[in-house]
Amino acid sequence: MSQRRIGVYICHCGGNISDYVDVQAVLQAVRDEPGVAVAKTAQFTCSDATQQEMIQDIREQQLDGLVVASCSPKLHLHTFRDVARRAGLNPYQYTQVNIREQCSWAHTDDPAGATEKAIRLVRAGIARTGLTRPLEPLQVDTVPRVLIVGAGVAGLRAALALADVGLTVFLLEKEERPGGHVAALGTMYPHGVSGKELVKRLLDEVGQRASITLLTRAELVEKKGSMGDFQVKVRVGGAGGREMDLQVGAIIVATGFDTYRPPAGEYGFGSPGVVTLEEFNRLLEQTGDQLTIDGRPVHSMAYIHCVGAGNGAEAPVPYCSRYCCNAAAHAAARVAQAWPQVSQYHFYRDLRTYGRYEMLATAALQAGSVFIRFPEEEPPQVQKQPGGRLTVAARDLLTAGDQVAVPVDLVVLVTGMVPRADSALVEALKLPLGRDGFYSEIHPKLRPVETVVDGVYICGSCQGPKNSAESVTSALAAAAQCAALLKKGHVELEPLVVTVHPERCTGCGDCLTTCPYTALEQSGPGAPVQVNRALCKGCGGCVPLCPQGALDLEGYSDAQLTVMIDALLKESKT
Ligand SMILES: Cc1cc2nc3c(=O)[nH]c(=O)nc-3n(C[C@H](O)[C@H](O)[C@H](O)COP(=O)(O)OP(=O)(O)OC[C@H]3O[C@@H](n4cnc5c(N)ncnc54)[C@H](O)[C@@H]3O)c2cc1C
Repeated sequence: MSQRRIGVYICHCGGNISDYVDVQAVLQAVRDEPGVAVAKTAQFTCSDATQQEMIQDIREQQLDGLVVASCSPKLHLHTFRDVARRAGLNPYQYTQVNIREQCSWAHTDDPAGATEKAIRLVRAGIARTGLTRPLEPLQVDTVPRVLIVGAGVAGLRAALALADVGLTVFLLEKEERPGGHVAALGTMYPHGVSGKELVKRLLDEVGQRASITLLTRAELVEKKGSMGDFQVKVRVGGAGGREMDLQVGAIIVATGFDTYRPPAGEYGFGSPGVVTLEEFNRLLEQTGDQLTIDGRPVHSMAYIHCVGAGNGAEAPVPYCSRYCCNAAAHAAARVAQAWPQVSQYHFYRDLRTYGRYEMLATAALQAGSVFIRFPEEEPPQVQKQPGGRLTVAARDLLTAGDQVAVPVDLVVLVTGMVPRADSALVEALKLPLGRDGFYSEIHPKLRPVETVVDGVYICGSCQGPKNSAESVTSALAAAAQCAALLKKGHVELEPLVVTVHPERCTGCGDCLTTCPYTALEQSGPGAPVQVNRALCKGCGGCVPLCPQGALDLEGYSDAQLTVMIDALLKESKT
């Protein structure tokens, strides 16, 4: 007979659960389970009134375990852990059982089955709770220094924001010259400010902050340690350069993007007179009174949008790159202003000048640009004409599908953003890449700059296509996250991590290879394995590999899983 005193609360969720799960039947089935001292149902367990009732029960009935059967722990795990804490019960003696997403919502066609499943899940929750013990979060002191990898607009702006809140910053740039793509841009949309000027302004400010160390031709080669206290090795001066050891509390990755480079022949790329938008922007910077290409005056020109991009997953750029339609429209308006006699044609499949940027397309249109919409399955054809001119031909959907052919002197291929291949950095940081090859955040809305590696943040266009304003916004978000992490001086980590039974460990070391977070350590061959609790994520991947059963996951120990399985298998009498 269990000596535990567990409180069990079963939620109707205002009908979300009780419309399909017979909540009263669940209560009847579990109220006499070993260890259950209090069992109740509630319309909304998360309501203030029920939370108060639980706190009162925990105190008055001296409960030493709490089970709430309601919705997903993603929604309310912390709500009920907090209820336990407020009542004086250790929050790790609380178990949330999900009978909404896993029962009522999943089995709307089978209320009896949903009820049966709910009974078994609640029983398993009670059994697990019966073997919980009080745990305390792990406290790690944090180092008030941040390493930023990449000194484009995102990295530079994040560095300034961190310096403003009193943190020391090491800013690494692998090129000779910081500033990334923006440093090479002249006038930029939407306000016509020069990219070069923008970067110069940022660099001047960085230069004035003693707390920012900008290291160029510098790369991160190794990372050890954990959130709040990383030891990193940095190489400065390229291959064979000097190595520096730094201790930092957090890392921001702001390594940016590459532009899609069309293969030779795609829309005539590689032929004289065919350039990418990036190259055209550089050309504009160097051009004097007359717009020329390879020494020939430009009388008419065509932009081909979405080069490399397609809706199919097999396209080299299977997503919208966000900046390119705007940048092309901005370039066209600029050309129209400087050389109004130049005829400009935009061959597009889908124009995405969203929000306020729509005015850029309107400005280009009003300045005389002609827009020709081609069908996705029939991309324009670029052909060379004798004498060096080119022809761009397409079917124009805006004129009922008429075939048009425009003679031009210059073709600008508007190419999108592609992820920067950097396997050395991925390996050093153990950062996973998304399916599109960019770094991926934990949650695009709720945790947009956090990664699965605690203490490592991403920002700017290394996490997906962004214009410079969006890159800077995410840089500021990453800086705010670092500040929130490091300014307190310490960080609390979940105690639900792996433990080692040293008397069973033979030191074979097999488990070390299973840990993606390098949380398992051995002082030498044959030595017992130890867990770096700050690195362990509690995934439990190592536990089944140990032939001696020497590893256990706190909160989900072998003993707890065994009693949960027994409870799940127990027949119900409903
Ligand atoms: C042709 C073109 C025109 C554009 N026009 C506009 C415009 O008019 N308006 C607008 O808002 N946006 C525009 N953009 C988009 C803009 O360039 C990006 O939003 C911006 O560059 C993103 O900044 P970032 O810092 O994230 O990346 P990046 O500019 O790519 O900077 C990343 C930096 O990190 C460095 N780096 C990379 N890997 C490492 C490493 N391993 N270690 C150290 N350093 C590393 C790189 O060398 C680089 O300096 C344009 C883009 C292009 C291609």
